[in-house]
Amino acid sequence: MFRRIFNINIEYYKVKGGESVEDCIFCKIIKGEIPSDKVYEDDMVISFKDISPCAPAHFLIIPKKHISNLNEITEEDSKIIAHIYIVAKEIAKKLGIDKTGYRIVANCGEDGGQTVQHVHFHVLGGRLLQWPPG
Ligand code: 5GP
Ligand code: ZN
Repeated sequence: MFRRIFNINIEYYKVKGGESVEDCIFCKIIKGEIPSDKVYEDDMVISFKDISPCAPAHFLIIPKKHISNLNEITEEDSKIIAHIYIVAKEIAKKLGIDKTGYRIVANCGEDGGQTVQHVHFHVLGGRLLQWPPG
């Protein structure tokens, strides 16, 4: 029965155009199948340093629940999304960028520059960031 429900979910993600949970690199990081430089973890989210940093401080915060992009967030995910902002400011403080400032970015879709189909929030700091972004 569980297997059947799981298969339906995999098909759901494929139909939605996202990667399946099985293929998702961030789900693999959550499961520890791909190593990461972890900065924080709890039951809802995990945070790790970006493999290709764009600023002296650049980490990602992701929900443990596989949500393929911002368009897929539902009302029941509100607690997770709000929690991500609390975690962001706590990590920023731990890394000493809370006073100098930082930017939280979530890219969505092709025009937004999203390359990994698992919702993630970039936190960038440690230098003066330009605005508007390119
Ligand atoms: P996006 O372009 O989707 O907004 O951001 C994806 C981010 O994930 C990129 O900044 C990229 O460097 C980072 N990334 C992709 N693969 C890995 C990985 O395997 N490990 C880590 N730590 N970061 C990754
Ligand atoms: Zn995933």
